[in-house]
Amino acid sequence: MFAWFLRLFGFIDTPTSTAMTFDARTESNINTLLPAAQAKAREFMEACLAAGIPLKIICGTRTYEEQDDLYAHGRTKPGPIVTRARGGYSWHNFGIAWDVGIFDGIRYIGESPLYAKAGEIGKSLGLEWGGDWPGIEDQPHFQLKLGLTLANCRERVAKGEAIA
Ligand SMILES: [Zn+2]
Repeated sequence: MFAWFLRLFGFIDTPTSTAMTFDARTESNINTLLPAAQAKAREFMEACLAAGIPLKIICGTRTYEEQDDLYAHGRTKPGPIVTRARGGYSWHNFGIAWDVGIFDGIRYIGESPLYAKAGEIGKSLGLEWGGDWPGIEDQPHFQLKLGLTLANCRERVAKGEAIA
């Protein structure tokens, strides 16, 4: 009755969608992904938050140019090396991958058992988890499982074909 009253007089909106929205950083990174990856990233975020994991999506898609610029850090540009991948050699160049960060309020936590917990949730949703990669374990990394290699992805991009 009371909720009806508030709705009638415009104090609260009538719910029009059950889709959850996340923090601004997560939302802007989700928006860089392909539609199929956006849907999965939302499902994943919702499941992690429901499990009490305080995480955000801190990285989404990078263009080849942005990747090349990152690759230059610590090589032809000053600063530390931040990536092993040139443009076209990172899963982040194809709209299907994202990285998460665990946060304590606004403080980023780089090491936490919660990354592995998020990994289990991601895998239960059919995602590929970077924490499973032998030799290059990357716990914050998640992506669609498509059965493609990076070479396949580059070839599809070069031909103007869809990735997912
Ligand atoms: Zn990543």
